[in-house]
Amino acid sequence: VGRGQFGYVYKAEHIPSGTSMAIKKIQYSSLSDDKHNYDRLIRELDVSMKTSSCPYLVGFFCSLFWEGDIWICMELMDASLDKLYKAMKEGSEKIPERILKMIAIAVVNALHHLHNDLHIIHRDVKPSNILVNRGGQIKLCDFGICGKLRNTNKLPSSFVTSMSVGCKPYMPPERINPTAIEGRETYGIRSDVWSLGITMVELATGEFPYKKTAALFGQINEVVYGPAPRLPPNEFTSDFEDFIVKCLDKDLSTRATYKELLIHPFLTRTTSNNDNNASDGTNNNNSASSSDNVSRHIDDVANFMSE
Ligand code: ADP
Ligand code: MG
Repeated sequence: VGRGQFGYVYKAEHIPSGTSMAIKKIQYSSLSDDKHNYDRLIRELDVSMKTSSCPYLVGFFCSLFWEGDIWICMELMDASLDKLYKAMKEGSEKIPERILKMIAIAVVNALHHLHNDLHIIHRDVKPSNILVNRGGQIKLCDFGICGKLRNTNKLPSSFVTSMSVGCKPYMPPERINPTAIEGRETYGIRSDVWSLGITMVELATGEFPYKKTAALFGQINEVVYGPAPRLPPNEFTSDFEDFIVKCLDKDLSTRATYKELLIHPFLTRTTSNNDNNASDGTNNNNSASSSDNVSRHIDDVANFMSE
């Protein structure tokens, strides 16, 4: 169903029980250079096993070591949001704000649960790590597993590695700014809040908010020295605009906390006037309405992914 930096994700079936699942195979070689990474992975897998109580996190079945790879067996979902928004963009459509609100509710709750109950920081919040299914559920995945592999504290090497494979910078300015290096843990809880803000702007507009430039590290410079991205004016509710302002605060000390985000009007207000897609008003459970265009696109993307 997909390919990532450390290997492929496959659709599989556990034959005795008839359970469909997604299996992510991580090449062992991507870990073996660093014993620290390996130990961390083992700890993180341990954490993954405790996540089943949260409806906003992708379920975890088990992990195996097989043929020199690590297999992570997890709940199979139907589409990731990067593919969904790109599919919608091809039809000149955008994800409606009503659905964006549900995505924000799911991700903020998931991150809050990870942090509050399991004491982990996600580190890799981005559209491809937010999955949806045809039942309309929205769930966060890859908490602590690949994110931690990719983002060690040794900033210069991981920074160069992640940029060299063409990753988009979802990380906050304080994670990049060289003055913050020197062995200090630059990844705090609020790093994920920034990445959530970038992700929401990308999903809303259909474009990654930092433009590609010819300059080496051009995007990275923009994150550190440029203004924080904002939603384009007059397209979204003021609640949503303010939510983005609160997430994309370059100053770590004033950036929103999960507690603040959980009570932000964008998440809590049930209907708003300029939300023209609000047809059923039942948007406070973890389920997108099946009667709108978005679910049609989820079907399209799901069919595409399973081909
Ligand atoms: P990335 O998240 O960087 O794209 P991954 O290796 O984590 O790389 O995943 C590759 C792709 O596989 C994702 O983009 C997503 O579309 C798909 N995918 C990952 N996990 C699942 C899952 N549990 N169910 C369905 N699709 C998945
Ligand atoms: Mg992923």
